[in-house]
Amino acid sequence: MKVTLPLSAIALALSMSFTATAQTTGAPDTENTNITGALQELLVPEKAPKTDDKKSTPEADPAEAAEKESDEADPAKEDEKKEKTFADIVEDMTHIPGYVDIYQDPKTGAAKLVIDKDMLNTPVLYFAQTVNGVTDVRHFRGAYRSEKILEFRQHFDRLDVVAPNNSYVFDKNNALSKAADANTSEAILVSTKIEFDNEGKIVVDLGSVVLNENIHRIAPMPSRDPKRDKDRFKLGKLSKDKTRYNDFANFPENTHVVVDYVYENMTPRNGGTGGNADARFTTISLQHAFVKLPENNFKPRQDDARVGYFGTYKEDQTTPSTTPYVDFITRWHLEKKDPDAAVSDPVEPIVWWIENTTPVEWRDTIKEGVLAWNSAFEKAGISNALEVRVQPDDADWSADDVRYNVLRWTSSPRAPFGGYGPSLANPENGQIIGADIMLEFVFMSNRWLYEGMFTQGSMLALEHEQYSAVAEESGHNALRCSKGFDINAGIALGNLLGNDMIGGGSTPADIYDLDKNEIARQGLLHLILHEVGHTLGLNHNMKASTTRSVTDVHDASVTQGAITASVMDYAPINLAPVGEKQGDYYDYAPGTYDDWAINYGYSIGLADPVKEAERLEAILSQSTLNAHIFGNDADDMRAPGVHIDPHVMIGDMSADAVTYAEQYIERMHDIATKLRDKVLQPGESHQDLLVAANIVAGSMSTQTGVMSRYIGGVHVNRAVVGQAGYDKPYTPVAEAKQKQAMAALAKHLFAADAIDDIEPLLAYLQRQRRGFYGYGKNEDPKPHDLLLNMQKRVFDHVLHPAVQKRITDSTKYGNTYPLHAVMEDLTQAIFADDMRGDVNTYRQNLQVEYVERLIAISGLEKTSRHDNIAEATALYTLKQLDESLNLRRGNTATKIHRSFLKDRIARAFHKSKS
Ligand SMILES: [Zn+2]
Repeated sequence: MKVTLPLSAIALALSMSFTATAQTTGAPDTENTNITGALQELLVPEKAPKTDDKKSTPEADPAEAAEKESDEADPAKEDEKKEKTFADIVEDMTHIPGYVDIYQDPKTGAAKLVIDKDMLNTPVLYFAQTVNGVTDVRHFRGAYRSEKILEFRQHFDRLDVVAPNNSYVFDKNNALSKAADANTSEAILVSTKIEFDNEGKIVVDLGSVVLNENIHRIAPMPSRDPKRDKDRFKLGKLSKDKTRYNDFANFPENTHVVVDYVYENMTPRNGGTGGNADARFTTISLQHAFVKLPENNFKPRQDDARVGYFGTYKEDQTTPSTTPYVDFITRWHLEKKDPDAAVSDPVEPIVWWIENTTPVEWRDTIKEGVLAWNSAFEKAGISNALEVRVQPDDADWSADDVRYNVLRWTSSPRAPFGGYGPSLANPENGQIIGADIMLEFVFMSNRWLYEGMFTQGSMLALEHEQYSAVAEESGHNALRCSKGFDINAGIALGNLLGNDMIGGGSTPADIYDLDKNEIARQGLLHLILHEVGHTLGLNHNMKASTTRSVTDVHDASVTQGAITASVMDYAPINLAPVGEKQGDYYDYAPGTYDDWAINYGYSIGLADPVKEAERLEAILSQSTLNAHIFGNDADDMRAPGVHIDPHVMIGDMSADAVTYAEQYIERMHDIATKLRDKVLQPGESHQDLLVAANIVAGSMSTQTGVMSRYIGGVHVNRAVVGQAGYDKPYTPVAEAKQKQAMAALAKHLFAADAIDDIEPLLAYLQRQRRGFYGYGKNEDPKPHDLLLNMQKRVFDHVLHPAVQKRITDSTKYGNTYPLHAVMEDLTQAIFADDMRGDVNTYRQNLQVEYVERLIAISGLEKTSRHDNIAEATALYTLKQLDESLNLRRGNTATKIHRSFLKDRIARAFHKSKS
């Protein structure tokens, strides 16, 4: 996976002392102080820091106080002020003791940071998390913003906060290591005047460190595309007067400072999506956490291309290897309580807390989803690896406390995600220190996303895009998870079409045997499994849905809760073909890949490094099994023209995804014909029908997208040379499979009757009126846009310069479906059926769009972005079309259309001559 960790986030050299071997045993694990893994030690249950006596001046000495008083009375003794003691400095301030001591002035709120001198020049884990904000600027409750290693360093009379550049590793025995700092830059984030330097302590103004954006940038980075930025919601300028401390929480080994950053933008062009009371003034509450790195016997485990973990990445500058990678996976520190037992409970389990804001009726299912992972750990030798507890209503800890792994539940005005499961890991060795999962209430209930997405002709799922930006910005292991959106669509479909089967016996549904409660249950279990999977270190596996046959995926006795090989895939809600029995809807148990990946990441290692390497390779050598197939976001084909292996795709299902997609679209048509009777209710508006129709149209678009990826596709294999089951890395998709996809597109996307079953719904697709909502937008249904947008998405891929070129390139290593044949078949699909008869308006739209694309590829009017072969083929296709378009055939509308096409082609050729 392509990881965009900022350089500063990748930390210190491997030989640092904090990977020391002795494990400190921690404080007792009480009901309210859950501590996981090595973090145990961070939690010494001391009394809450904020309750300290306001006027406490424990070290104040009456004599010193008197001296101070006389100092102030006598200007001649001005110089002696420098001789103030520490007690003088913090006199009358509230002491908030912890990892880094804080003192706050109870009158002004100003605060001082006190650094013990032995803390200088040692790495500190820094972590920023949004406590509250507005989703317009990608600050949502609980958002992980960044993690990095920082160091406090003294430079004469200044204290620097430095982010070292530790992306590189040097073998100390190699002379090159003497030049280790050449051509790399560390970042001095803060440099502030030292107010006091004595008694082993350094005192600075805390505000100079955190009441600005130096350590962590709050406002979003401007987009690369300024046009996009123009109308976005903007925070404006940070107000110095209004920006202030919100909260301090201090513990022996971690210090939290929550700051309210207030921004002012007096002329907002975009009022935001409703999260802030007044778009001119926005408050973002951000928690800065300074965390002591754990000291324990955690052993980093190497990353490998064949299995999908998040990781930490460094390069060894002293090896001649072409792969000088020193990469570790992120994982929890799990040890067996009984090291000799084949299966043992862990010394410290991973404890999850269900936040007390969670709807009570969902808590059992959520717990079941978390604990479902235990079966995978048990196969790796660790029983009861995960535990679940419920946060008491009167708990005195906050979910923002980095020591608690919390399943949080929020309801944002505009949800940025349906689920989000980041983890905090030591960038040095990959040890996961804490994790949270944020769930949005909308995921179980809300339908806003589907109101107008397709029927109103808008294909932009802005929120998906916004979410990706969150991940990019946080640099957090590039975690992009829009899983909740997909499940949301399935659950909404279940709610609208499904039946309440509880207590209803086995009577089949009036339309289908869709059990709405079971869809919701499996959907929620799946989401929890997926998000917990991220917090265990696993990234997506977009290839896992291809392991079972197109018939087996519908057989619940075969799948048993694992339709695919991994809960980390983005498979669609699994719906039976028309007339067949419904199987499992979602994966609700870890799959074969998940078990294998957990075994790689968490089975207990051997002390002997050589034997350990052999042991890990023995696991990895099974990567060629179909059950362990893997490919993540860095390879998936969701965006048109990007990546090459159609098996690494979202929304696809089964080893024959093209057939599955055809059956799925047929099912959607069948649903469409029954939708009106099922969904419209007396006394209700048409809103539900509108939502359902959008989900149906969205599913059709997803599945035609899946089909398109097979054309010009190349399967990727990451097996290492000589491994059992080894095959060459690149194998073009078989010609028969490509042709199957082309034929499926012809039938389901390009055909004249592609959305005939949606047509009877059009006159009913009305959004419920609310105030003046929708003012300035025409509310009429737009079926031509609906279909054309789907077709454009497929053109975007099949006619993409990269795909067109690959179709030609891959003929040199196995592709037998050359570009001229692809274009001939595509042209047939778009023109053949109505060449002799009437062309309906959908097809007119499609044919014009296709001709415009061909003109662009051919370079007749503007410089082509395509390769020579593609240019020539497009030009030839245009000429062929021009010759075959007969102006005498068809009805008047058809004659107008064909006349336009011929004219358009002629103009393009004319322009190229002039
Ligand atoms: Zn995900």
